[in-house]
Amino acid sequence: MDGWQVGRARITPVIEVETRTSPRFLFSGMDKTGVQAVAERSPWLSGSFVDDDGYLLQRIQCLVIEIDGTRIVVDTCVGNDKPRTNPGWHNLQLPFLSDLSAAGYPAESIDAVVCTHLHVDHVGWNTSRVDGRWVPTFPNARYVFTQPEFEYWQATSYPDGDDIFSDSVAPVVEAGRADLVPVDHRLDAGVRLDPTPGHTPGHVSVVIESEGQQAVITGDMIHTPVQVASVELSSAFDYDQHAAADTRREFLQRYADDTLVIGTHWGGAGAGRIRADEDGRWAIEPVGSTARSAG
Ligand SMILES: [Zn+2]
Repeated sequence: MDGWQVGRARITPVIEVETRTSPRFLFSGMDKTGVQAVAERSPWLSGSFVDDDGYLLQRIQCLVIEIDGTRIVVDTCVGNDKPRTNPGWHNLQLPFLSDLSAAGYPAESIDAVVCTHLHVDHVGWNTSRVDGRWVPTFPNARYVFTQPEFEYWQATSYPDGDDIFSDSVAPVVEAGRADLVPVDHRLDAGVRLDPTPGHTPGHVSVVIESEGQQAVITGDMIHTPVQVASVELSSAFDYDQHAAADTRREFLQRYADDTLVIGTHWGGAGAGRIRADEDGRWAIEPVGSTARSAG
């Protein structure tokens, strides 16, 4: 299975949906022509993260971290059977769980689930419908939600009216499987949370450290590397667009070393390293996933 090796950690993407996304879906201030103009100025985007027509190469996926026998799922996509306002996400019937098993990670083998934030496309497979009830999909996992994120969505309706908290978060708490943690929480095995607020109040990225190597899973603070070339460009889904841009700027500074940056929604290469181009703009040097070596 494809993925990335970081010291002793293996990070494997399991894709629910792969799309060419119109930039209008994410950004009120940018259309396909705008993306083409950014890609002309920052040619590293073309082919790796955007296509020639100005569409964004995007995924909805979960990333499985396996390190020293511990298995951690980061974000759980849209999920099956969920009533959703977005017709593309309504009542999905996708083979995600069998794809996860085929990648070597049956649901019962997962030790922890981390949600970078509690939006619709990050919590779906937290639960599955069994006999008309929502139950935790990963029966042996602890589920990690950050305290401020949990409290915000417990008290706030989702903008499109979907009852995401009730079907994908609350049942995990009721089953006694949730851990509400601070935004800088450390899990076992060299995995920790890094607070990256702005997209949502308690949003976190996930850092993996092993044998002197480091990777970070972005969450939605960089939906697409177009936001690396154009740091000011915040998403229409951001709770605080100014805070999101500030967080992005700090994040690019913080990880502009040999850290492997893995984008939660990045299609194409899916990951890369932060570099500065000749004009001093931020860039991503793509690092495609590689097949696991034999043995
Ligand atoms: Zn998302």
